[in-house]
Amino acid sequence: MRTRFAPSPNGYLHMGHALSAVLAHDMARAADGEFHLRIEDIDAGRSRPEFVEAILADLTWLGLTWDAEPVFQSARLESYEAAAGQLRDMGLLYPCSCTRSEIRAATHKEGLEGPVYPGTCRDGKADLSKQHGWRLDMARAAEIAGPLHWHDGYAGEVKADPQAFGDVILLRKDAPASYHLAATLDDAADGMTYIVRGMDLFTATHIHRLLQTLLDLPVPAYYHHALLTGEDGRKLSKSEDAPSLTELRLDAADGRQLADDLRSGIFPAGISRDSP
Ligand code: GLU
Repeated sequence: MRTRFAPSPNGYLHMGHALSAVLAHDMARAADGEFHLRIEDIDAGRSRPEFVEAILADLTWLGLTWDAEPVFQSARLESYEAAAGQLRDMGLLYPCSCTRSEIRAATHKEGLEGPVYPGTCRDGKADLSKQHGWRLDMARAAEIAGPLHWHDGYAGEVKADPQAFGDVILLRKDAPASYHLAATLDDAADGMTYIVRGMDLFTATHIHRLLQTLLDLPVPAYYHHALLTGEDGRKLSKSEDAPSLTELRLDAADGRQLADDLRSGIFPAGISRDSP
């Protein structure tokens, strides 16, 4: 059993992150396995070293321990480029120079992660004199991969349906890779066997499952836990009710008690569990 917590250092952690980290940590400890940390800092414009420091301090405050030096995605860009090259050689990636507003104007079809890309740049139609990213040719990719499933400790056996997302971006024009490509590659490179994360990332797993088969990577099991929300019903990152873990830590709150409460399903005032 090897699990990980993989925060993006573009803000302070909130209670939902604490729940993910505690669950992943405990899953590894209960099986005498390993718990790792991965800092998802490929977005250089938004990642800040002070958030990395706060994340490590918050996790220690919660009483969590990890079994290897934290891995930083910014140090692994070559492996993302190599995998993209493999997909390009398979004829599965194409350049795309569309802006967000051009895409919005050209489609009304909403996918699981926003508008489904209308295929404007497919068949070599991108304007390569403009900044461009690279998209997956989803229809071809899904055909090569065939039927896909994953085991989810929360939802049971799930049939992956990546086609619902359309041609997703795998190399962003403003960052060296997309979350989907980087996270899938790193989970495989670090030998993760159980991916524990919030239900908000359930949809991403459809794409990750496809990439695993295209790139011949091992397939871990998943556990997408229910999300915590503020009493206003809003996501914790957006909710007014939710203090960050760093605020609580600096207020001298008891982090180990908080972790134990989360384990027992007791949430601090103002926070509730949003059953999926
Ligand atoms: N970095 C992602 C986030 O903070 C989580 C990635 C994952 O667990 O796969 O939302």
